[in-house]
Amino acid sequence: MAAAMAAPARPAAVTAQPRTPVPGQPRAPSAPCEVSPHASGPVALPGRPANRPAPQPPPLISLRGVGRRYAGAAGVVALRDATLDLRAGEFVVVLGPSGSGKTTLLNLMGALDRPSEGQITVAGRELTGAPSRVLSRYRRESVSFIFQTFNLFPGLTALENVQFGADVARRAHPREAAREMLQRVGLGDRLEHFPHALSGGEQQRVAIARALATGNPIVLADEPTGELDFRTGLQILALLHDQTETGRVVVVVTHNREIARTADRVVELRSGRIVADRAVVDRADLEDVSW
Ligand code: ADP
Ligand code: MG
Repeated sequence: MAAAMAAPARPAAVTAQPRTPVPGQPRAPSAPCEVSPHASGPVALPGRPANRPAPQPPPLISLRGVGRRYAGAAGVVALRDATLDLRAGEFVVVLGPSGSGKTTLLNLMGALDRPSEGQITVAGRELTGAPSRVLSRYRRESVSFIFQTFNLFPGLTALENVQFGADVARRAHPREAAREMLQRVGLGDRLEHFPHALSGGEQQRVAIARALATGNPIVLADEPTGELDFRTGLQILALLHDQTETGRVVVVVTHNREIARTADRVVELRSGRIVADRAVVDRADLEDVSW
């Protein structure tokens, strides 16, 4: 919404963008990565180059020649020359064997890590060289992280863990948002449970609820269904797909090729390189997948 885009007051967040661009919408005159998180209406989009076909909205996240190498004797190159565009409303699956750079890629898009080379822009604004406070705000107010390890606070109940996500993203009614999201992941009857009293799959669902309770527009999920039985995994997959309806981009790292069949796009990594980036032409309905 226009109010949410009030750039001077909110120097570093991103809004869920509608699937269709808003022609002529001005670009916010703000600091790097300025977008704001909880609006569902039109937002300022970067200008479209004249030679691009009209229906294609500009990317929300762009990577250009991004690499990440780790220092040290071994000098591991975790990611090399990654060029990728992610658009609002897209459901993107990242596939690849263990060690191929999937988590590295996700961490760079979420500004948990900085690239060794290349450029990352979000909503047309440079993330790469942005100061730490800008990145911190971007992580808090623009990104929903679902980590491979759940990282729940052991001393907080399920409800308090999820509320923490909503609090960090500064949602207006964090407790209500937390309660609602726990219901949506099927844990409405586990609100007062501490993590130790929850199964692995339930803990994973609390972690997912905590990420989504932020309402942030960029959802980055590392193996979100790894611990879940098929039926619960499918519910979570449906919930993640729902996020795209309000213009969020959802990036899911998985080994599960059935999940990849439901995606808009599949990106494949091998040894730190993007070896495929393709649209899924015959997207499978959720009712038609099983694993
Ligand atoms: P994936 O998620 O596909 O399993 P990662 O992105 O975690 O792969 O890792 C890619 C490569 O980078 C692996 O070889 C891994 O050992 C290495 N790597 C990841 N994180 C670090 C780190 N902090 N320091 C050194 N090497 C790392
Ligand atoms: Mg990983």
